[in-house]
Amino acid sequence: MLSLINVDEIENYFDKLFPILRSVTGNGNRETLNIINEIVDLNITEVPSGTQCFDWTVPPEWNLKDAWIKNSKGEKIVDIKNSNLHILGYSTPFTGKLTLKELKEHLYSLPDMPDAIPFLISCYKRRWGFSLTHNQLQSLPEDTYEVLIDSDINSNGSLTYGEAFIKGKSEKEILISTYICHPSLANDNLSGILSAAFLYKELKKRSDLRYSYRFLFIPETIGAIAYLSKHGNELKENLIAGFVLTTCGDRGNFTYKRSRKGNTLPDRAVECVLSSTEKEYTLEDFFPTGSDERQYCSPGFNFPVGSLMRTRYYNFPEYHTSKDNKDFISFEHIKGTIEKYLDVITLIEANDILVRTNPYCEPQLGKYDLYTSLGGQRDTSIINGLIIYILNLADGSNDLIDIVKKSKYDFRLVIEAIRKLVDKNLLKVKD
Ligand code: ZN
Repeated sequence: MLSLINVDEIENYFDKLFPILRSVTGNGNRETLNIINEIVDLNITEVPSGTQCFDWTVPPEWNLKDAWIKNSKGEKIVDIKNSNLHILGYSTPFTGKLTLKELKEHLYSLPDMPDAIPFLISCYKRRWGFSLTHNQLQSLPEDTYEVLIDSDINSNGSLTYGEAFIKGKSEKEILISTYICHPSLANDNLSGILSAAFLYKELKKRSDLRYSYRFLFIPETIGAIAYLSKHGNELKENLIAGFVLTTCGDRGNFTYKRSRKGNTLPDRAVECVLSSTEKEYTLEDFFPTGSDERQYCSPGFNFPVGSLMRTRYYNFPEYHTSKDNKDFISFEHIKGTIEKYLDVITLIEANDILVRTNPYCEPQLGKYDLYTSLGGQRDTSIINGLIIYILNLADGSNDLIDIVKKSKYDFRLVIEAIRKLVDKNLLKVKD
């Protein structure tokens, strides 16, 4: 699929969005959505803290103005201004002086990755803390430390999410969901946010979309639960496929995590696109940990929602640490992920059940001028073979994806050949 996705533009937005302190709630999320709004025509919704959503309650809103630790010389040894991963998300306000032993109760590090700052949050249990490298933690001398956490936990606040909709010819819709609650982490999940935003931008240019597209930029878990508790039944009416966009930007091969049902439209379409276009990729069955597919594929909904990503969360050591930064990702790979989603969408949009207009024997193909410029292919044996396959499989029981799978031809060539056969009135779309 040809696209005009501009890698520099993605990088510019990355640079704007990366430093923002995002969390489950708060002004960082609003700021993020306001920037995304430059690319995506977002409707922004505020769900009040305390709102009941199935078994969950929307938490109070958390905001942070400043946070640091000073030694007795007054030097800031940990400062939120250097990395917003330093603060334990949802830290309660605190000021005071502590001994090293007292301070250590509130410090978190990764002994097995001693030069990385871990990303941690404590949204539902009230506490305060700092993350720092294990090397720094171990080098802290006995001293009297001064701590400031200028935070605010407001039970009259709200949770913020953004939604956008592109109307196609049909009410049937495809969901693109990504999460905005992680602070300065590149692959998980600024890459997902940027991929969703630039995917929107590409789809918005198309005037011929068959399906409608719903984009969600929500905080993970509670955002998806809040959305589903309000709109889940509406999604039941029209949702035919959905994807959770996460870890879209590392340099790894593609991974696809199937929907819970395992053989739904997005599962079939992604497998078909990957087998046509990639040498190495990983297919995984659904499992109930991970991202928001946990909610979309919960038994009450069991939606056809999967996740096409690069290296999956949990599978890269930089995951949830300060090493998941700009150096870890590549904007070319983000672009490649967006293009892969566009391929999947092209296939879903074209996925009809096909029938022969005259099903008896083979047509006399020489009469129909089918051989010119199909996929730029000059090898008539390939085209001939493909056409024979399509005409044989077009018995009203196979859709386009079945035909690609059974014939093993590249999906783009199959789409083009089918268009040609429909033009020549040899095939028609089954009602
Ligand atoms: Zn994460």
